[in-house]
Amino acid sequence: MTDFEFPTSLEEACQSLSQSAGEARLIAGGVALMVLVRHQIFFPTRLISLKRIPGLDRIAFDEKEGLGIGALVTHAQVESSPIVRQHYPALAQCVHHVGNLRVRNMGTLVGDLCQADNHSDPAPLLGVLGAKVRARSLRGERLLSMAEFHVDIYETGVKEDEIVTEIVIPPSAPQARTAYLRFSGNSPVDWPILGVAGSLICEDGRCAEVKISVGSLAAVPMSFEAECEALKGKKITAAAIKKFARACTATMEPIPDARGSEWYKKQVAEVYIRRTLETLMK
Ligand SMILES: Cc1cc2nc3c(=O)[nH]c(=O)nc-3n(C[C@H](O)[C@H](O)[C@H](O)COP(=O)(O)OP(=O)(O)OC[C@H]3O[C@@H](n4cnc5c(N)ncnc54)[C@H](O)[C@@H]3O)c2cc1C
Repeated sequence: MTDFEFPTSLEEACQSLSQSAGEARLIAGGVALMVLVRHQIFFPTRLISLKRIPGLDRIAFDEKEGLGIGALVTHAQVESSPIVRQHYPALAQCVHHVGNLRVRNMGTLVGDLCQADNHSDPAPLLGVLGAKVRARSLRGERLLSMAEFHVDIYETGVKEDEIVTEIVIPPSAPQARTAYLRFSGNSPVDWPILGVAGSLICEDGRCAEVKISVGSLAAVPMSFEAECEALKGKKITAAAIKKFARACTATMEPIPDARGSEWYKKQVAEVYIRRTLETLMK
């Protein structure tokens, strides 16, 4: 038997979680958790639902602080939010590709991150956008960078007694362009074989700042600081883009699986990194 709890405040939920000594599990949309329960892979004894906690369903924007996406906001709500579409269009486009309509209507963006499946679509994009994760417990509140948050496949930097209350995305520079491209093989509703997120600031045709993050290929999203640094100040020509994409893929060692061998994934990554930069230049 599973005990279901429905706390009506964050304080109450934190209390419950901290008293459970690792036994209780938080549940938001239940999309990821219920798959495991239905297939009798995971047998939770205690589930703490976030559904009745006021305020967690909010999307808020402030010119200085940026965007806040609460723990109960679904992919569909992110996709259709006028605030997200106006200020972070790449995020609205990215979550449109998550699973299917049922998954997007039930599943939350925070739940997607907390599940820490390495094929998450939003994970690499949130990294490029400089997002942080706000976690709360009885011990207080802290903000984790995406680098601190992503630890391994199905493992995050969030502690057992912590609840992620929101994702915070800083305001983007007005001249920054951001894009997310994914490749899912046969069917667009499949999990991605790989997803590439990029952002670019160009001044007089030269690269002032570039960020690239590739999801799905390793345990956590890959970033390419040295290669991005090397592109700074350079003219973004077709040849420079090609060289950059090749340099990024040269050292990567994708995890081979049913979706493709290491060699195949490297080929796809090179093409998609190139296409992402070409998209950012349009
Ligand atoms: C058929 C299918 C296709 C999918 N395709 C894609 C895809 O193409 N791309 C993609 O990115 N994703 C995909 N997903 C994943 C889906 O987006 C996530 O499963 C969903 O968003 C999880 O959100 P949830 O609210 O349902 O999480 P839940 O199932 O409620 O929770 C998931 C995990 O996160 C923890 N958790 C939830 N909320 C919090 C919180 N606030 N603080 C701390 N821990 C928390 C839970 O304890 C649990 O361990 C797919 C899923 C399915 C079933």
